[in-house]
Amino acid sequence: MDLYNVKTYLRPKSLREVREWQPDWNWLAGGTWIFNEVQPQVKTLVDMQQLNWSEIELTSEGLSIGATCIQNDLLDFSFPDAWTATAALKDAVRELASFKLSHAATVGGNICLALSASTFAPAMVALNASYEIWRPNTESYIVNAVDFQTAPQQTILQPGEVLRRIKIPIWNLTQWQTSFKRMAVCTAGYAIAIVVTAYHPQTQQVKFGIGGSVKSPRLIEFDTIPIPEQIAGEVRELPLHIYIDDERGSATYRRHITQVLMQRGITELTAGIDGKRRY
Ligand SMILES: Cc1cc2nc3c(=O)[nH]c(=O)nc-3n(C[C@H](O)[C@H](O)[C@H](O)COP(=O)(O)OP(=O)(O)OC[C@H]3O[C@@H](n4cnc5c(N)ncnc54)[C@H](O)[C@@H]3O)c2cc1C
Repeated sequence: MDLYNVKTYLRPKSLREVREWQPDWNWLAGGTWIFNEVQPQVKTLVDMQQLNWSEIELTSEGLSIGATCIQNDLLDFSFPDAWTATAALKDAVRELASFKLSHAATVGGNICLALSASTFAPAMVALNASYEIWRPNTESYIVNAVDFQTAPQQTILQPGEVLRRIKIPIWNLTQWQTSFKRMAVCTAGYAIAIVVTAYHPQTQQVKFGIGGSVKSPRLIEFDTIPIPEQIAGEVRELPLHIYIDDERGSATYRRHITQVLMQRGITELTAGIDGKRRY
């Protein structure tokens, strides 16, 4: 896409170079969305590549992913065997789009774009991730993944603010098993519901990161493995207006599919307990 309104292209090596943020500036990460849409309001692209924020760091506290980490780098990364929940991150890459896209798109770009079809958002919510936000002139701050997106394509980010890194605490990575379920109305279509289930076999805790069907990602947690009636009850507790209602699927349909995917996710993870399936 030719972004004919763009007059200036900046490649800062540090945030200090973009202190005086202007309303018509736009961060450029992998560019797979920016260069795919008309952007009449954008006059300046601020390319993040030279900021060198693409690290994948493992520490005793957990995992840190730089915002400009190319999605496919997560797929290729060898995580320790005990970090079982990192499977959800690899699934988020596999389920997003094509080989071509995942070799250019960044993890931060997907999260900040905040499409309802984001595969990373529900994965990060299920893993209790938090996001470190940098601002050019003041101190950085941390926000929980579940509080970051407020509506489709809307986040808490203020002009000039930038997602620097994603942090996932160690406890949420080790020993949790995950299942990634995504539903679209046609093959390779836009997701109408995404559920990332995380299950801890020792404690029997269960977490569901809900995306795709809802206007902003949700977290639903259980202290023990829920039976179908408990899942249905929790889903019914959420008001219908939090679900997306559009040509791809009504709010009622999306709510139903969300519940089905939650049940499928936990069934997959707990199949074989006591020698029998729970559902
Ligand atoms: C064929 C196709 C299929 C797609 N399918 C999907 C899909 O199923 N689900 C989905 O979610 N997306 C989809 N996309 C959209 C998009 O490609 C992805 O969301 C991708 O992950 C965006 O990452 P990027 O690095 O290319 O972001 P960019 O295009 O560079 O940026 C996206 C937006 O985020 C902002 N941004 C980027 N990084 C930061 C940061 N660190 N801090 C603050 N703001 C930032 C940019 O300013 C821009 O507004 C698809 C695109 C195509 C072309």
